[in-house]
Order: sequence, then C-alpha cells, then structure tokens
Amino acid sequence: MRVLLVEDEPAIARDIQQALADTGYVVDVVRDGEEGWFRASTEDYDALILDLGLPKLDGLSVVRRLRDEASTVPILVLTARGSWLQRVEGIDAGADDYLTKPFEMEELLARLAALLRRVGRHVTPLIEIGALRIDTRRLRVMLNGRAIELSPLEFRLLRYLAHNRDRVVAQSELVEHVYGSDEPESNAVEALVARLRRKIGSDTIGTRRGHGYIMETPAP
Ligand code: CA
Repeated sequence: MRVLLVEDEPAIARDIQQALADTGYVVDVVRDGEEGWFRASTEDYDALILDLGLPKLDGLSVVRRLRDEASTVPILVLTARGSWLQRVEGIDAGADDYLTKPFEMEELLARLAALLRRVGRHVTPLIEIGALRIDTRRLRVMLNGRAIELSPLEFRLLRYLAHNRDRVVAQSELVEHVYGSDEPESNAVEALVARLRRKIGSDTIGTRRGHGYIMETPAP
C-alpha cells in the first residue's frame, strides 16, 4: 500500500511517516498543498493523508481539485481541534474521512485501514468514451483495448476533458486544472492538445474556436 502524506509540521509528519512505515506502508511525504496536489494527481497512491492547513495551497483546495479531476484516491483529512466547520467543508469537498488533531497514532492507522477496506470493495473507476477507457485510479488509458502511453500532463488534460465531457471547457480552466500554479507558455494548451490528439485520434477532442475544447460522447 502506497500512501501520500501532505503535512507541513515536521514533527507530526515524521511521527506519522514512522508509524505508517512500521505498519508496512510505503510513504511519500510532501510539505505543501501544491506539491501534494501535483503528486496525488500524477502518481498512483492507495490513499492520501492530508492536513488542511498547508502552505501554497490549502488542503480543502487540494481535495476540490482532485475531485474536479475525477481522482478517486481515498482522502483522510487532518483538521485542527475544535474546527467543526473544517470537518464539514472537508467532507463536502470530497474527503472520505477526517481525524481531529491531536490524535493517537493507533486511531490514524485504524481509520486509514478502514478507509482502504471500504474502497477496496469498489471496482476500479473507469471513464469510457467511445473506444477510450480511462482508468482514473491506475492512471492508465486504453484505446481499442491497447494501452496508450501518456505523459502526466497529457493524462491530466484527458482526464479533465473526459470528466467534463459534453461541455466546452475554456483554455483558462484547462490551464488551472492541468498546470496548477506553474504558469505555462501562452500556446502550451494548444500544443498539449495537439500531442494528445496524435496519440488518441484527432477527432476525439473538438475545438470550439474562441471558446475552448470539448470531448463529446459519440452517438450510439
Ligand atoms: Ca498544518
């Protein structure tokens, strides 16, 4: 089991990392929300443990972005003591469970194990559009049954368009969801769409000039 821990307080991060490692998890630790979102969005984790008070991008925004991108990674959020609003907002945004600081390490391990058991019963979430199958959990794409190699940016673009299929998505929206805070070159989205079209077929992504891009469900 591979877990991403996003926590900016070094002592807490170290304690959680140690407890998880001792229990047999493989743990990656990052210290800010931006990096946390990027890693969760581009790599395959079994779960995310996410502090809500984080530098660069707060934890709630990380949850919202991941769910907007159709990421189904189970998320356990860590909230400040007494902040019931944070708990409500965390669950509203798409977190699966929460734990209030300070907590016993045994409770964190028990909640995480319960979360993993719960989602383990679900089948892999797939988005299917025509001949395309996008496995949003394993970050894999198949076209007519053949695996397609995509870069992390190409995958994020495809997943976002597919999740928002049958709707025109503006360039600015794609920049925000695909690149995050790394401001890309002015023609980066066009270039990325062109690369993706070469891999998955030029008619899969439509252009609405002056408006944006759209992935349409093919007529049956
Ligand atoms: Ca914090």
